[in-house]
Amino acid sequence: MANHKFIISQQRKNCIGCGSCAMYSPECWKINDQDGKADLVGGVQKGTVIVAEVGMEYLEENKKAADVCPMQIIKLNK
Ligand code: SF4
Repeated sequence: MANHKFIISQQRKNCIGCGSCAMYSPECWKINDQDGKADLVGGVQKGTVIVAEVGMEYLEENKKAADVCPMQIIKLNK
């Protein structure tokens, strides 16, 4: 199977809305106007995390987002 997508997960309840993920990857992350936390675009709740399948073209910028997230709540799975 072609490896053309990867999985992002976010433990959204611990997000402090710093905006770093949205700065590095504005296509995948948007700050929510209501609660000020980051929304993972296309994300669905799975247990305690939000999960989305994302195209590989967004991998590098999301590695940066995961690195800089001060809460370390962004995880990537290929
Ligand atoms: S970098 Fe982390 S804490 Fe900051 S807005 Fe994104 S998910 Fe939330």
